[in-house]
Amino acid sequence: LTVYEEAFTFETRGEFDCSDITQNVSRVVRASGVKKGMALVFAGHATGVIAITEYESMLLRDIKTLLQKLVPTRGGYNHPANAHAHLRSLLLQPGKVVPVVGGRLSLGTWQSIFWIETETRPRRRTVRVLIVGE
Ligand code: ZN
Repeated sequence: LTVYEEAFTFETRGEFDCSDITQNVSRVVRASGVKKGMALVFAGHATGVIAITEYESMLLRDIKTLLQKLVPTRGGYNHPANAHAHLRSLLLQPGKVVPVVGGRLSLGTWQSIFWIETETRPRRRTVRVLIVGE
């Protein structure tokens, strides 16, 4: 059994900025040498989302609209300043698990892994990838 861990960092430009991290995660899978197992992709941030779906600009706009509908920016919240950013992160979660098969991420043709920033200001984000398998 192999347990391999690596993290990478990137900058976001503020609310709803999306960063495709599929290649970063794939690189960690290759570095691990694991052929069959799973990749845990997790960000230790209390705001922000890791999504898996098609990375397409019109769809990214629709995701923004969905997040605004589900959790409006102004909603009479109790937490100061950025409650909406935490609540959006709570709904869609800053972590995912992806199967590793044949030494590669087993993603569908139209699936990408990407970060959606929910914090209003630009931030530096770190995503940790843990590969477990053989
Ligand atoms: Zn806060």
